[in-house]
Amino acid sequence: MLNLAVILRESAARRPDAPAVMHDGGTITYAELDARSDAVAAALAARGIGPGAPVALQLPNIPEFPIAYYGILKAGAVVVPVNVLLRAPEIAHQLRDSGARLFITWAGVAGEAAKGAAEAGLPSPYIVDGSIEELSAPVTEPFPLCPREPGDTAAIVYTSGTTGLPKGAELTHFQLYMNADIPGRLFEIKPADVVLTVLPLFHVYGMSSAMNLGIRFGAALSLVPRFTPEKVLATIERDRATIFDGVPTMFGALLAYAEKNECDTSSLRVCVSGGDAIPARLLDAIEERFGVPILEGYGMTETASTITFNQGPEERRAYSVGKPVWGVQVQVWDDAGRRLPPGRANIGELVTRGYHTMRGYHGHPAATAEAFDRGWFRTGDLGYADDDGYLYIVDRKKELIIRGGYNVYPREVEEVLHRHPGVLEAAVVGVPDERLGQEVKAIVVRRPGHSPSAPDIVEHCRDRVAAYKYPRLVEFRDALPLSGTGKVLKKDLA
Ligand code: AMP
Repeated sequence: MLNLAVILRESAARRPDAPAVMHDGGTITYAELDARSDAVAAALAARGIGPGAPVALQLPNIPEFPIAYYGILKAGAVVVPVNVLLRAPEIAHQLRDSGARLFITWAGVAGEAAKGAAEAGLPSPYIVDGSIEELSAPVTEPFPLCPREPGDTAAIVYTSGTTGLPKGAELTHFQLYMNADIPGRLFEIKPADVVLTVLPLFHVYGMSSAMNLGIRFGAALSLVPRFTPEKVLATIERDRATIFDGVPTMFGALLAYAEKNECDTSSLRVCVSGGDAIPARLLDAIEERFGVPILEGYGMTETASTITFNQGPEERRAYSVGKPVWGVQVQVWDDAGRRLPPGRANIGELVTRGYHTMRGYHGHPAATAEAFDRGWFRTGDLGYADDDGYLYIVDRKKELIIRGGYNVYPREVEEVLHRHPGVLEAAVVGVPDERLGQEVKAIVVRRPGHSPSAPDIVEHCRDRVAAYKYPRLVEFRDALPLSGTGKVLKKDLA
Protein backbone atom coordinates (compact mmCIF):
# COMPACT_ATOMS: atom_id res chain seq x y z
CA MET A 1 0.00 0.00 0.00
CA LEU A 2 1.35 3.39 -0.89
CA ASN A 3 -0.42 6.70 -1.13
CA LEU A 4 1.91 9.42 -2.42
CA ALA A 5 0.41 11.85 0.13
CA VAL A 6 2.37 9.93 2.77
CA ILE A 7 5.31 12.22 1.93
CA LEU A 8 3.38 15.13 3.42
CA ARG A 9 1.96 13.16 6.34
CA GLU A 10 5.42 11.93 7.37
CA SER A 11 7.11 15.33 7.09
CA ALA A 12 4.27 16.90 9.09
CA ALA A 13 4.68 14.26 11.81
CA ARG A 14 8.44 14.84 11.98
CA ARG A 15 8.49 18.64 11.88
CA PRO A 16 4.97 20.04 12.33
CA ASP A 17 6.10 23.63 12.94
CA ALA A 18 8.63 23.85 10.11
CA PRO A 19 7.69 25.99 7.08
CA ALA A 20 6.24 23.95 4.21
CA VAL A 21 5.16 26.79 1.92
CA MET A 22 6.40 30.37 1.70
CA HIS A 23 4.50 32.82 -0.46
CA ASP A 24 3.82 36.52 -0.74
CA GLY A 25 1.16 36.36 1.94
CA GLY A 26 3.22 34.50 4.54
CA THR A 27 4.22 31.01 5.60
CA ILE A 28 2.31 27.75 6.01
CA THR A 29 3.74 25.14 8.34
CA TYR A 30 3.78 21.41 7.68
CA ALA A 31 1.05 20.83 10.28
CA GLU A 32 -1.14 23.45 8.56
CA LEU A 33 -0.55 22.11 5.06
CA ASP A 34 -1.39 18.60 6.27
CA ALA A 35 -4.57 19.78 8.03
CA ARG A 36 -5.74 21.97 5.14
CA SER A 37 -5.26 19.20 2.59
CA ASP A 38 -7.10 16.85 4.99
CA ALA A 39 -10.03 19.29 4.87
CA VAL A 40 -10.04 19.15 1.05
CA ALA A 41 -9.87 15.34 1.14
CA ALA A 42 -12.83 15.25 3.52
CA ALA A 43 -14.85 17.61 1.29
CA LEU A 44 -14.10 15.50 -1.79
CA ALA A 45 -15.03 12.29 0.05
CA ALA A 46 -18.29 13.92 1.16
CA ARG A 47 -19.08 14.59 -2.51
CA GLY A 48 -18.47 10.94 -3.34
CA ILE A 49 -15.13 11.61 -5.01
CA GLY A 50 -13.00 8.67 -4.01
CA PRO A 51 -10.55 6.06 -5.28
CA GLY A 52 -9.63 6.50 -8.94
CA ALA A 53 -11.85 9.53 -9.63
CA PRO A 54 -10.04 12.11 -11.81
CA VAL A 55 -10.10 15.69 -10.46
CA ALA A 56 -8.85 18.45 -12.77
CA LEU A 57 -6.70 21.05 -11.04
CA GLN A 58 -5.89 24.32 -12.82
CA LEU A 59 -3.95 26.61 -10.51
CA PRO A 60 -0.75 28.62 -10.72
CA ASN A 61 1.92 28.22 -8.03
CA ILE A 62 -0.15 29.45 -5.09
CA PRO A 63 -0.52 27.63 -1.73
CA GLU A 64 -3.87 26.18 -2.84
CA PHE A 65 -2.02 24.05 -5.41
CA PRO A 66 -0.26 21.79 -2.87
CA ILE A 67 -3.28 21.96 -0.54
CA ALA A 68 -5.60 20.66 -3.28
CA TYR A 69 -3.03 18.28 -4.79
CA TYR A 70 -2.37 16.37 -1.58
CA GLY A 71 -6.06 16.60 -0.64
CA ILE A 72 -7.05 14.89 -3.90
CA LEU A 73 -4.43 12.19 -3.34
CA LYS A 74 -5.45 11.61 0.28
CA ALA A 75 -9.01 10.92 -0.90
CA GLY A 76 -7.57 8.32 -3.31
CA ALA A 77 -8.63 10.42 -6.30
CA VAL A 78 -6.43 11.21 -9.30
CA VAL A 79 -4.94 14.66 -9.97
CA VAL A 80 -5.29 15.95 -13.54
CA PRO A 81 -3.17 19.12 -13.66
CA VAL A 82 -4.29 21.65 -16.27
CA ASN A 83 -2.00 24.39 -17.60
CA VAL A 84 -3.36 27.84 -16.71
CA LEU A 85 -2.52 29.15 -20.20
CA LEU A 86 -4.88 26.77 -22.05
CA ARG A 87 -7.82 27.99 -24.13
CA ALA A 88 -11.35 26.59 -23.72
CA PRO A 89 -11.16 23.88 -26.45
CA GLU A 90 -7.84 22.60 -25.03
CA ILE A 91 -9.29 22.54 -21.52
CA ALA A 92 -12.38 20.72 -22.80
CA HIS A 93 -10.18 18.10 -24.47
CA GLN A 94 -8.35 17.35 -21.22
CA LEU A 95 -11.53 17.27 -19.17
CA ARG A 96 -13.21 14.86 -21.59
CA ASP A 97 -10.19 12.71 -22.27
CA SER A 98 -9.37 12.26 -18.57
CA GLY A 99 -13.02 11.73 -17.58
CA ALA A 100 -12.64 14.45 -14.90
CA ARG A 101 -15.42 14.36 -12.29
CA LEU A 102 -14.67 17.73 -10.73
CA PHE A 103 -12.77 20.77 -11.98
CA ILE A 104 -10.93 23.09 -9.62
CA THR A 105 -9.71 26.27 -11.28
CA TRP A 106 -8.39 29.71 -10.46
CA ALA A 107 -10.20 33.04 -10.44
CA GLY A 108 -7.58 34.48 -12.83
CA VAL A 109 -8.66 32.15 -15.66
CA ALA A 110 -12.23 31.43 -14.57
CA GLY A 111 -13.88 32.68 -17.80
CA GLU A 112 -11.90 30.38 -20.06
CA ALA A 113 -12.23 27.49 -17.59
CA ALA A 114 -16.02 27.86 -17.44
CA LYS A 115 -16.21 27.76 -21.26
CA GLY A 116 -14.02 24.65 -21.29
CA ALA A 117 -16.14 22.93 -18.65
CA ALA A 118 -19.35 23.74 -20.55
CA GLU A 119 -17.85 22.41 -23.78
CA ALA A 120 -16.95 19.16 -21.99
CA GLY A 121 -20.40 18.92 -20.40
CA LEU A 122 -19.05 19.22 -16.84
CA PRO A 123 -20.73 21.27 -14.11
CA SER A 124 -19.22 24.73 -13.53
CA PRO A 125 -15.73 24.59 -12.13
CA TYR A 126 -15.01 25.22 -8.49
CA ILE A 127 -13.20 28.57 -8.47
CA VAL A 128 -10.33 29.24 -6.09
CA ASP A 129 -10.15 32.91 -5.31
CA GLY A 130 -7.67 33.54 -2.53
CA SER A 131 -8.75 30.49 -0.55
CA ILE A 132 -10.10 26.99 -0.90
CA GLU A 133 -12.44 27.19 2.08
CA GLU A 134 -15.60 26.21 0.21
CA LEU A 135 -13.97 23.00 -0.90
CA SER A 136 -12.90 22.16 2.63
CA ALA A 137 -14.82 20.22 5.23
CA PRO A 138 -14.13 20.55 8.96
CA VAL A 139 -11.91 17.75 10.28
CA THR A 140 -11.04 16.99 13.87
CA GLU A 141 -8.89 13.89 13.24
CA PRO A 142 -6.22 13.39 10.56
CA PHE A 143 -7.93 12.20 7.36
CA PRO A 144 -7.02 8.51 6.89
CA LEU A 145 -5.00 8.20 3.67
CA CYS A 146 -7.00 6.18 1.16
CA PRO A 147 -5.01 2.95 0.64
CA ARG A 148 -3.65 2.72 -2.89
CA GLU A 149 -1.57 0.07 -4.64
CA PRO A 150 1.86 1.37 -5.71
CA GLY A 151 0.89 0.82 -9.37
CA ASP A 152 -2.38 2.75 -9.09
CA THR A 153 -2.62 6.03 -10.97
CA ALA A 154 -1.97 9.14 -8.86
CA ALA A 155 -1.93 11.74 -11.65
CA ILE A 156 -2.80 12.03 -15.32
CA VAL A 157 -0.47 14.60 -16.84
CA TYR A 158 -1.05 15.87 -20.35
CA THR A 159 1.74 16.04 -22.88
CA SER A 160 1.91 16.37 -26.63
CA GLY A 161 4.41 13.52 -26.75
CA THR A 162 5.76 13.16 -30.24
CA THR A 163 2.53 13.26 -32.24
CA GLY A 164 -1.10 14.25 -32.23
CA LEU A 165 -3.38 15.76 -29.61
CA PRO A 166 -2.15 15.97 -26.03
CA LYS A 167 -2.37 12.61 -24.28
CA GLY A 168 -2.60 11.99 -20.56
CA ALA A 169 0.36 10.10 -19.11
CA GLU A 170 -0.85 7.98 -16.18
CA LEU A 171 1.73 8.38 -13.43
CA THR A 172 1.56 6.03 -10.46
CA HIS A 173 1.92 6.57 -6.71
CA PHE A 174 5.14 4.54 -6.69
CA GLN A 175 6.60 6.30 -9.71
CA LEU A 176 5.95 9.76 -8.27
CA TYR A 177 7.18 8.72 -4.82
CA MET A 178 10.46 7.44 -6.26
CA ASN A 179 10.85 10.51 -8.46
CA ALA A 180 10.81 12.65 -5.35
CA ASP A 181 12.93 10.31 -3.25
CA ILE A 182 15.79 9.36 -5.55
CA PRO A 183 16.65 12.78 -7.05
CA GLY A 184 16.27 14.35 -3.59
CA ARG A 185 18.91 12.02 -2.17
CA LEU A 186 21.24 12.86 -5.04
CA PHE A 187 21.64 16.43 -4.02
CA GLU A 188 21.18 15.72 -0.35
CA ILE A 189 18.15 17.89 0.22
CA LYS A 190 17.66 18.72 3.90
CA PRO A 191 14.78 20.16 5.95
CA ALA A 192 16.72 23.42 6.13
CA ASP A 193 16.56 23.79 2.34
CA VAL A 194 14.27 26.32 0.69
CA VAL A 195 13.28 25.33 -2.86
CA LEU A 196 12.48 28.28 -5.12
CA THR A 197 9.43 26.94 -6.94
CA VAL A 198 8.62 28.93 -10.06
CA LEU A 199 8.43 26.00 -12.47
CA PRO A 200 4.70 25.47 -12.87
CA LEU A 201 3.39 22.75 -10.59
CA PHE A 202 0.99 21.61 -13.31
CA HIS A 203 4.03 20.41 -15.29
CA VAL A 204 5.82 17.28 -14.17
CA TYR A 205 9.18 18.98 -13.69
CA GLY A 206 7.83 21.41 -11.07
CA MET A 207 5.52 18.79 -9.58
CA SER A 208 8.19 16.13 -9.05
CA SER A 209 11.50 17.93 -8.85
CA ALA A 210 10.40 20.91 -6.78
CA MET A 211 7.13 20.18 -4.92
CA ASN A 212 7.14 16.44 -4.19
CA LEU A 213 10.88 16.44 -3.66
CA GLY A 214 10.75 19.34 -1.21
CA ILE A 215 7.79 17.90 0.70
CA ARG A 216 9.34 14.40 0.83
CA PHE A 217 12.39 15.78 2.66
CA GLY A 218 10.60 18.34 4.79
CA ALA A 219 12.09 21.37 3.03
CA ALA A 220 10.21 24.63 2.38
CA LEU A 221 8.72 25.53 -1.00
CA SER A 222 9.06 29.20 -1.84
CA LEU A 223 6.27 29.71 -4.38
CA VAL A 224 6.43 32.19 -7.26
CA PRO A 225 3.26 32.18 -9.40
CA ARG A 226 4.70 33.76 -12.54
CA PHE A 227 8.25 33.99 -13.76
CA THR A 228 9.93 37.35 -14.05
CA PRO A 229 13.63 37.67 -13.29
CA GLU A 230 13.01 40.54 -10.84
CA LYS A 231 10.45 38.55 -8.89
CA VAL A 232 12.53 35.37 -8.75
CA LEU A 233 15.68 37.15 -7.64
CA ALA A 234 13.80 39.20 -5.04
CA THR A 235 12.19 36.02 -3.69
CA ILE A 236 15.50 34.18 -3.52
CA GLU A 237 16.75 37.08 -1.40
CA ARG A 238 13.60 37.34 0.77
CA ASP A 239 13.21 33.61 1.51
CA ARG A 240 16.94 32.81 1.47
CA ALA A 241 16.31 30.11 -1.13
CA THR A 242 18.98 27.41 -1.30
CA ILE A 243 17.82 25.46 -4.37
CA PHE A 244 16.53 26.76 -7.69
CA ASP A 245 15.11 24.54 -10.41
CA GLY A 246 14.62 26.14 -13.79
CA VAL A 247 14.54 25.74 -17.55
CA PRO A 248 17.27 27.29 -19.72
CA THR A 249 15.17 30.29 -20.82
CA MET A 250 14.74 31.22 -17.13
CA PHE A 251 18.47 31.07 -16.50
CA GLY A 252 19.04 33.28 -19.57
CA ALA A 253 16.59 35.89 -18.30
CA LEU A 254 18.06 35.81 -14.76
CA LEU A 255 21.53 36.35 -16.11
CA ALA A 256 20.50 39.26 -18.34
CA TYR A 257 18.76 40.92 -15.39
CA ALA A 258 21.60 40.27 -12.92
CA GLU A 259 24.12 41.81 -15.32
CA LYS A 260 22.42 45.17 -14.82
CA ASN A 261 21.05 44.97 -11.27
CA GLU A 262 22.34 44.21 -7.83
CA CYS A 263 20.98 41.00 -6.31
CA ASP A 264 21.90 38.82 -3.37
CA THR A 265 21.89 35.16 -4.31
CA SER A 266 24.39 34.09 -1.67
CA SER A 267 21.84 31.72 -0.07
CA LEU A 268 21.79 29.46 -3.16
CA ARG A 269 23.76 26.23 -2.91
CA VAL A 270 22.66 24.49 -6.10
CA CYS A 271 20.68 25.13 -9.28
CA VAL A 272 19.12 22.47 -11.46
CA SER A 273 18.47 22.94 -15.17
CA GLY A 274 16.24 20.64 -17.17
CA GLY A 275 13.36 20.51 -19.58
CA ASP A 276 15.45 21.68 -22.49
CA ALA A 277 19.08 21.80 -23.55
CA ILE A 278 21.06 24.52 -21.79
CA PRO A 279 23.62 26.19 -24.04
CA ALA A 280 27.11 25.58 -22.65
CA ARG A 281 27.91 29.29 -22.78
CA LEU A 282 24.90 30.14 -20.67
CA LEU A 283 25.70 27.45 -18.10
CA ASP A 284 29.25 28.78 -17.64
CA ALA A 285 28.09 32.40 -17.44
CA ILE A 286 25.46 31.62 -14.80
CA GLU A 287 27.90 29.67 -12.65
CA GLU A 288 30.33 32.53 -12.80
CA ARG A 289 27.78 35.24 -12.02
CA PHE A 290 25.91 33.45 -9.23
CA GLY A 291 28.78 31.34 -7.90
CA VAL A 292 26.72 28.13 -7.68
CA PRO A 293 26.91 24.90 -9.65
CA ILE A 294 24.16 24.20 -12.19
CA LEU A 295 23.42 20.50 -12.33
CA GLU A 296 21.72 19.49 -15.56
CA GLY A 297 19.12 16.76 -15.65
CA TYR A 298 16.98 15.21 -18.33
CA GLY A 299 13.47 13.94 -18.06
CA MET A 300 10.00 13.99 -19.49
CA THR A 301 6.35 13.82 -18.53
CA GLU A 302 6.07 10.09 -19.18
CA THR A 303 8.96 9.45 -16.80
CA ALA A 304 7.69 11.84 -14.12
CA SER A 305 10.40 13.36 -14.61
CA THR A 306 14.08 12.50 -14.00
CA ILE A 307 15.82 10.00 -16.27
CA THR A 308 19.40 11.21 -15.97
CA PHE A 309 21.14 13.69 -13.72
CA ASN A 310 24.59 15.16 -13.24
CA GLN A 311 24.80 13.84 -9.76
CA GLY A 312 27.14 16.33 -8.18
CA PRO A 313 29.52 19.14 -9.02
CA GLU A 314 32.50 16.79 -8.89
CA GLU A 315 30.99 14.04 -10.97
CA ARG A 316 29.34 15.99 -13.71
CA ARG A 317 30.53 16.24 -17.25
CA ALA A 318 30.26 19.28 -19.49
CA TYR A 319 27.60 19.08 -22.19
CA SER A 320 26.24 15.84 -20.74
CA VAL A 321 22.80 15.41 -19.16
CA GLY A 322 24.48 13.02 -16.72
CA LYS A 323 23.96 9.36 -15.95
CA PRO A 324 20.73 7.45 -15.39
CA VAL A 325 19.60 7.86 -11.79
CA TRP A 326 19.41 4.87 -9.46
CA GLY A 327 17.05 2.15 -10.70
CA VAL A 328 16.78 3.60 -14.19
CA GLN A 329 18.28 2.13 -17.35
CA VAL A 330 18.92 3.93 -20.62
CA GLN A 331 20.04 2.49 -23.95
CA VAL A 332 20.70 4.02 -27.36
CA TRP A 333 18.93 2.26 -30.24
CA ASP A 334 19.27 2.47 -33.99
CA ASP A 335 16.24 2.71 -36.28
CA ALA A 336 15.86 -1.06 -36.29
CA GLY A 337 15.69 -1.17 -32.48
CA ARG A 338 19.22 -2.57 -32.05
CA ARG A 339 21.36 -1.38 -29.19
CA LEU A 340 24.22 0.90 -30.23
CA PRO A 341 27.60 0.86 -28.47
CA PRO A 342 28.95 3.99 -26.74
CA GLY A 343 30.63 6.65 -28.87
CA ARG A 344 29.99 10.04 -30.35
CA ALA A 345 29.38 8.58 -33.78
CA ASN A 346 26.68 6.25 -32.51
CA ILE A 347 23.70 8.56 -32.33
CA GLY A 348 20.34 6.88 -31.88
CA GLU A 349 17.05 7.11 -30.02
CA LEU A 350 17.26 7.01 -26.23
CA VAL A 351 15.05 4.36 -24.65
CA THR A 352 14.55 3.87 -20.94
CA ARG A 353 13.26 1.27 -18.50
CA GLY A 354 12.63 1.32 -14.74
CA TYR A 355 10.31 2.40 -11.95
CA HIS A 356 10.06 5.87 -13.43
CA THR A 357 7.97 5.14 -16.53
CA MET A 358 4.23 5.76 -16.80
CA ARG A 359 1.55 3.07 -16.85
CA GLY A 360 0.44 4.33 -20.24
CA TYR A 361 -1.58 7.04 -21.96
CA HIS A 362 -5.00 7.26 -20.35
CA GLY A 363 -7.60 5.68 -22.63
CA HIS A 364 -5.19 5.32 -25.56
CA PRO A 365 -3.90 1.72 -25.61
CA ALA A 366 -2.65 1.98 -29.20
CA ALA A 367 -0.54 5.06 -28.41
CA THR A 368 0.76 3.30 -25.28
CA ALA A 369 1.71 0.21 -27.27
CA GLU A 370 3.56 2.40 -29.74
CA ALA A 371 5.44 4.23 -26.98
CA PHE A 372 6.94 1.04 -25.56
CA ASP A 373 9.08 -1.53 -27.32
CA ARG A 374 9.89 -4.79 -25.50
CA GLY A 375 9.37 -3.01 -22.17
CA TRP A 376 11.49 0.01 -23.07
CA PHE A 377 9.95 3.47 -23.30
CA ARG A 378 10.94 5.27 -26.48
CA THR A 379 11.76 8.87 -25.58
CA GLY A 380 11.84 10.33 -29.11
CA ASP A 381 15.14 12.00 -28.20
CA LEU A 382 18.35 11.43 -30.09
CA GLY A 383 21.64 11.07 -28.29
CA TYR A 384 24.67 8.96 -27.52
CA ALA A 385 26.53 7.57 -24.49
CA ASP A 386 30.21 7.79 -23.62
CA ASP A 387 32.28 4.91 -22.28
CA ASP A 388 31.40 5.78 -18.68
CA GLY A 389 27.65 5.84 -19.25
CA TYR A 390 27.19 9.62 -19.41
CA LEU A 391 24.51 10.58 -21.89
CA TYR A 392 24.50 13.40 -24.40
CA ILE A 393 21.32 14.63 -26.04
CA VAL A 394 21.80 15.67 -29.60
CA ASP A 395 18.24 16.69 -30.34
CA ARG A 396 14.66 15.60 -30.48
CA LYS A 397 13.97 13.10 -33.22
CA LYS A 398 11.08 15.16 -34.51
CA GLU A 399 13.22 18.31 -34.69
CA LEU A 400 15.99 16.77 -36.73
CA ILE A 401 16.41 18.70 -39.98
CA ILE A 402 17.32 16.73 -43.08
CA ARG A 403 18.83 19.13 -45.58
CA GLY A 404 19.68 17.60 -48.95
CA GLY A 405 20.06 14.20 -47.28
CA TYR A 406 22.34 15.43 -44.50
CA ASN A 407 21.30 15.41 -40.85
CA VAL A 408 21.41 18.80 -39.17
CA TYR A 409 20.86 18.82 -35.42
CA PRO A 410 19.36 22.23 -34.53
CA ARG A 411 20.90 22.20 -31.10
CA GLU A 412 24.44 22.17 -32.49
CA VAL A 413 23.70 25.25 -34.62
CA GLU A 414 21.97 26.95 -31.66
CA GLU A 415 25.13 26.47 -29.58
CA VAL A 416 27.08 28.30 -32.29
CA LEU A 417 24.52 31.11 -32.49
CA HIS A 418 24.71 31.60 -28.73
CA ARG A 419 28.42 32.33 -29.10
CA HIS A 420 27.67 35.46 -31.15
CA PRO A 421 27.82 38.49 -28.82
CA GLY A 422 24.72 40.05 -30.38
CA VAL A 423 22.51 37.00 -29.83
CA LEU A 424 20.35 36.82 -26.72
CA GLU A 425 18.23 33.83 -27.73
CA ALA A 426 18.20 31.59 -30.75
CA ALA A 427 16.24 28.70 -32.18
CA VAL A 428 16.92 26.72 -35.32
CA VAL A 429 14.19 25.00 -37.31
CA GLY A 430 13.77 23.30 -40.67
CA VAL A 431 11.53 24.94 -43.26
CA PRO A 432 10.26 23.23 -46.43
CA ASP A 433 12.51 23.67 -49.45
CA GLU A 434 11.70 22.40 -52.93
CA ARG A 435 15.22 21.48 -53.89
CA LEU A 436 16.68 20.27 -50.60
CA GLY A 437 13.60 18.97 -48.78
CA GLN A 438 14.37 21.25 -45.85
CA GLU A 439 16.39 24.41 -45.36
CA VAL A 440 17.95 25.52 -42.06
CA LYS A 441 16.47 28.68 -40.57
CA ALA A 442 17.63 30.63 -37.50
CA ILE A 443 15.25 32.68 -35.42
CA VAL A 444 17.19 35.18 -33.36
CA VAL A 445 16.39 37.56 -30.52
CA ARG A 446 19.02 40.31 -30.52
CA ARG A 447 20.78 41.28 -27.30
CA PRO A 448 19.79 44.80 -26.23
CA GLY A 449 22.33 47.31 -27.51
CA HIS A 450 23.42 45.06 -30.39
CA SER A 451 22.09 44.99 -33.93
CA PRO A 452 23.65 42.15 -35.91
CA SER A 453 22.28 41.86 -39.45
CA ALA A 454 21.16 38.63 -41.12
CA PRO A 455 24.39 38.40 -43.16
CA ASP A 456 26.42 38.87 -39.92
CA ILE A 457 24.63 35.90 -38.38
CA VAL A 458 25.03 33.74 -41.47
CA GLU A 459 28.72 34.55 -41.68
CA HIS A 460 29.28 33.80 -37.99
CA CYS A 461 27.78 30.33 -38.47
CA ARG A 462 29.41 29.65 -41.83
CA ASP A 463 32.84 30.03 -40.26
CA ARG A 464 32.06 27.53 -37.51
CA VAL A 465 30.00 24.64 -38.90
CA ALA A 466 29.99 22.48 -42.03
CA ALA A 467 28.51 23.98 -45.18
CA TYR A 468 25.30 21.91 -45.05
CA LYS A 469 24.55 23.02 -41.48
CA TYR A 470 24.70 26.78 -41.38
CA PRO A 471 21.41 28.73 -41.61
CA ARG A 472 20.76 30.45 -44.92
CA LEU A 473 17.63 32.09 -43.55
CA VAL A 474 17.55 34.37 -40.52
CA GLU A 475 14.52 35.94 -38.91
CA PHE A 476 14.68 38.43 -36.05
CA ARG A 477 12.01 38.46 -33.39
CA ASP A 478 11.46 40.34 -30.14
CA ALA A 479 10.96 37.09 -28.21
CA LEU A 480 10.71 33.35 -28.80
CA PRO A 481 7.34 31.65 -28.23
CA LEU A 482 7.47 29.77 -24.93
CA SER A 483 5.36 27.03 -23.36
CA GLY A 484 3.88 27.41 -19.88
CA THR A 485 7.10 25.91 -18.50
CA GLY A 486 9.32 28.27 -20.45
CA LYS A 487 10.41 25.85 -23.16
CA VAL A 488 10.86 27.20 -26.67
CA LEU A 489 7.90 26.10 -28.79
CA LYS A 490 9.67 25.04 -31.97
CA LYS A 491 6.49 23.91 -33.66
CA ASP A 492 5.28 27.51 -33.63
CA LEU A 493 8.43 28.66 -35.42
CA ALA A 494 8.71 26.26 -38.35
P1 AMP B 1 8.11 17.27 -21.24
O1 AMP B 1 7.35 16.01 -21.38
O2 AMP B 1 7.32 18.50 -21.50
O3 AMP B 1 8.79 17.32 -19.92
O4 AMP B 1 9.25 17.29 -22.36
C1 AMP B 1 10.25 16.30 -22.36
C2 AMP B 1 11.29 16.61 -23.41
O5 AMP B 1 12.08 17.74 -23.03
C3 AMP B 1 12.29 15.49 -23.57
O6 AMP B 1 11.78 14.44 -24.36
C4 AMP B 1 13.47 16.21 -24.20
O7 AMP B 1 13.26 16.36 -25.60
C5 AMP B 1 13.41 17.59 -23.56
N1 AMP B 1 14.40 17.71 -22.48
C6 AMP B 1 14.21 17.58 -21.16
N2 AMP B 1 15.36 17.79 -20.49
C7 AMP B 1 16.32 18.05 -21.41
C8 AMP B 1 17.73 18.35 -21.36
N3 AMP B 1 18.38 18.46 -20.20
N4 AMP B 1 18.38 18.53 -22.53
C9 AMP B 1 17.74 18.45 -23.71
N5 AMP B 1 16.42 18.18 -23.83
C10 AMP B 1 15.71 17.99 -22.70
